[in-house]
Formats: sequence, C-alpha cells, structure tokens
Amino acid sequence: MSQPQRVVIVGGGFAGLSCARALNGAAFDIKLVDRRNFHLFQPLLYQVASGGLSPGDITAPLRSVLRQQKNIQVLMGEVTGFDPAANRVVLADGEIFYDILIVAAGAESHYFGNTGWEAYAPGLKTIEEATEIRRRIFEAFEHAEREPDEAMRRAWLRFVVVGAGPTGVELAGAISEIAHDTLRDDFRSIRTEEAEILLLEGEPRVLPPFPPDLSDRAERALIGLGVRSRTGVRVINIDECGVLMRTPAGEQRIEARTVIWAAGVRANGLGRKLAESLGAETDKGGRVMVNPDLTLPGHENLFVIGDLAHAAGADGRPLPGVAPVAMQQGRYVARNLKARQEGRAPGDFHFVDKGTLATIGRNAAVAQFGRIHLDGFVAWLAWLFVHLLYVVGFRNRLLVALQWGFQYLTFNRGARLITGLFHPARPEGRPELTTARPIEAGAATAAGQPAPAGAASAAARPAEATRSDR
Ligand SMILES: Cc1cc2nc3c(=O)[nH]c(=O)nc-3n(C[C@H](O)[C@H](O)[C@H](O)COP(=O)(O)OP(=O)(O)OC[C@H]3O[C@@H](n4cnc5c(N)ncnc54)[C@H](O)[C@@H]3O)c2cc1C
Repeated sequence: MSQPQRVVIVGGGFAGLSCARALNGAAFDIKLVDRRNFHLFQPLLYQVASGGLSPGDITAPLRSVLRQQKNIQVLMGEVTGFDPAANRVVLADGEIFYDILIVAAGAESHYFGNTGWEAYAPGLKTIEEATEIRRRIFEAFEHAEREPDEAMRRAWLRFVVVGAGPTGVELAGAISEIAHDTLRDDFRSIRTEEAEILLLEGEPRVLPPFPPDLSDRAERALIGLGVRSRTGVRVINIDECGVLMRTPAGEQRIEARTVIWAAGVRANGLGRKLAESLGAETDKGGRVMVNPDLTLPGHENLFVIGDLAHAAGADGRPLPGVAPVAMQQGRYVARNLKARQEGRAPGDFHFVDKGTLATIGRNAAVAQFGRIHLDGFVAWLAWLFVHLLYVVGFRNRLLVALQWGFQYLTFNRGARLITGLFHPARPEGRPELTTARPIEAGAATAAGQPAPAGAASAAARPAEATRSDR
C-alpha cells in the first residue's frame, strides 16, 4: 500500500485549525506546526486586555483540540523559511518535509515603519500584548490615585486608542466601562469616572468598514459611554508621555500615559519569505497573491490561506482579514484535497458572507446582515451569541458565558490583575506640559495613520465571527 501524502499546515489559528479539523479521518499524514501550543480566539482579546476574561478562557491547547484525530501530529516550532525545491519547511531548530504545504501564519501589528512606537503603544494581537495592555490600564489608575499633581493625574487618567476600527472601538468602550462602572467605588483620591477616553481615527468616521449609518449609530453609542472620538486626524508621533497628531487645524499634542495601538496589521513576514522563495507576488500589506483555488501560481501543492492570503472576493476586491474568511478557506482546502484524492475537480473558493458585527460596550453594538442594519441591544445580543457560539471548546464557552453573565449583573471584571512587577512612575518620564497644548476634555481628537488594505481597522467583523468547527 502506498504511503499517505504528507500534509504540513503552518499555523493553528482559525485557518490552519479549521483545515486540520476538516481533514479528520482523511487518508493523509498531517503535521500541524505552530510556535504556540494553543489556538487563540483573537476576537475576545480585548476582553482579556480589559480584565473581563482570563487568557485561559480564550485559548485552547492545540493538542487537546486535535486529540481525537489520529492522522494529525501537532508540533510546536517556529517556522523560519521555506525551501520549495526540496519540499521542505525550515524551522528554527529543524525541518519538516511535505507533499502538500498549507501556510496559515496570520498577521501581526503594523506601525507603518514607526517601530519605536510599539514600546509606548502596544498593539492587540497576542495574549502577551493583551495582558500588557491590561497592566497599563489598571496601573494607570493606581498611579493617578497616588499622584499629587493635578496635570499629571489627568495625564494618568487619559487613555488614547489609536484606530477606530472594530478593535479600537471595542477597547475604547471597555476602558470607559472600567472607569465609569467597574472601578467607580474603588479609589479614594480620584474619581475614576473623570477619566477621558479618546479614540483617534484617520478616516472621516469611526468603524470605516461599516456603512455610514452604522458608523453614526456607533458614534452615538460611544458618546453615550463617555468615549470621545476624533476622526480625520493623523498620529505623527507617540512617546512615553502622549501622542502628537496632525489635525486640519494644525498639530496637537495629547498628554496621556496610556496609549493603545489599534490602527493596523500586516501579513506575517513568512508570506514574503514564501513568495520570494517561489518568485510569487505579495500585495502592499505583505499578503501572498493566490489563485482562485488558494494555491500559489504554478504550485498546485502549495496553499496560502487566512490573513496571510490575498484572495479576491466576488467583487474582485481582496477578502477582508477576518475569521470567517480564514475558517471557510481552511475548510475549503480540506475539501479540495479530498476531492483531488478522489479524482474529482475541486472548484474554486467562494466566500459566503453572513454579515458583520462590532461591539461597542454593554447593550451597544452594530450589525449588518445584508440590507438589515441593527444597533443597540439587539445587535449586542447577536454579537454575544455569535462569539459564544464560535469560541473554541465547550469549557471555554461555558466559562465565557458564566463570566459575561456575572459581569453583566455586577459590572465587575474579575480578571483585572496587574501582573509582573509594579512600574513606578519615573519623574523624568513626566509630560512636558509647558511645551504641549493638552487636549481639552470634551474636544477629544486625533488620528490614525491610514491603514493599508487588510488593516485591522479596515476589517469589519463578520457575523460568523470565529470558530474552528462545530
Ligand atoms: C484584536 C482582534 C480582534 C479581532 N476580532 C475579530 C472579530 O470579532 N471577528 C472576526 O471575524 N475577526 C476578528 N479578528 C480577525 C481574526 O482574528 C483573523 O482574521 C484570524 O485570526 C485569521 O486567522 P489565521 O488563521 O489566518 O491567523 P491566526 O488566527 O492569527 O493564526 C496564525 C497562527 O500562526 C502561528 N504562527 C505565526 N507565525 C508562525 C511561525 N513563524 N511559526 C509557527 N507558527 C506561526 C500563530 O502562532 C497562530 O497560531 C480580530 C483580530 C484581532 C487581532
């Protein structure tokens, strides 16, 4: 009997894991390689960053998810390159050979060349970044409580989120709830509800991927939550003490000790490496241009899927970097491989768009299902339902449901831990308030660098949200 074909899947995110699960029982010898030993449900990262959920609630160990699939071996390892001439995946500490390669390494935060900003404004892409943002948010209130100087205290109580796409809107809404509800009675020297939450966006409206009427409704919900948005502005510098932005009225500085980056992502660098090794093309965001069947031109045994792939939708525009696209592509590739094995023609990939959702805060969300546009409580319920449905693993689903229920009734966020060492306020890191024109409360403003195609702020959230399989 001939040996089963060797399938290597790089990445156990939404695309890679969906593919692996859909290959359950198929006659392939499959290896799934990931540098993490867990699958991460990225749509709920902001809940970890805001103390609503713990890291374990939104992650699932890859080995346990794939435990029953005897045709798959999970390998933990960092893929560093590809050698397609020898059908070889290069790891930091080894190599793996394949007959069929599926690359699903996802995306990473993108600062548009301003690498120095990362230290002052973490992005939200990994569990580590989420817990770092959580530390910064909750530590800021601790510093404010001890700060005798009024201007400094205000800088500690000012939170800037750069990028008003779905992630920025979620984060801004969550920080506002922390200040207005969760921490309201917990401090003695400060009134946490006086915190300012500023949401900066380069486009003319919040939630740019959504239709204008939903952006308007989201804007009203943000105002109701106490978040001030400033659109049509560009961030031109970020440092330890705040943000400098260019507005139509000139440059303006915001003194803020907590800045969060939600303005852009780009494809994982592995995409460019793979493309270079094959002479294939990438787009401006580093995504690999793929055929309608998600293979690379001239290489029918090489697939690129998920956020790493530039695949055209029905309208010819690139599909957004969102979980439903990744999951459907993963399942499609599995069907494609099985069809080939049975000698059938696989056909091309077609994305089925079931709608888009973005949450803003308690009882507030927007949703688009074709021509139906919803907001408020109904949209929020739909968001809750979809995210609960798609979170990976029964245990996680139960834990998330219980914690959300508790949070809803009590306004409490049980996971608001400041982990790691306390970071004392450094006198030399104090804002130079004399040289800056601090932003006035109620006139929030600022900007985001225009995000490239596929950037997080440009990606609406499909209603199918994220799940690996059910
Ligand atoms: C904060 C946030 C919120 C989001 N919210 C939503 C939402 O509400 N709805 C929605 O539809 N989409 C949302 N998205 C987008 C969605 O999460 C992505 O589209 C989806 O994760 C893409 O799946 P993927 O499999 O391509 O990549 P990922 O899910 O990112 O998986 C990539 C995998 O590759 C692994 N990997 C990367 N590099 C290497 C390497 N060198 N070696 C080995 N392994 C490697 C990673 O560890 C990871 O497991 C959100 C994204 C973020 C960041």
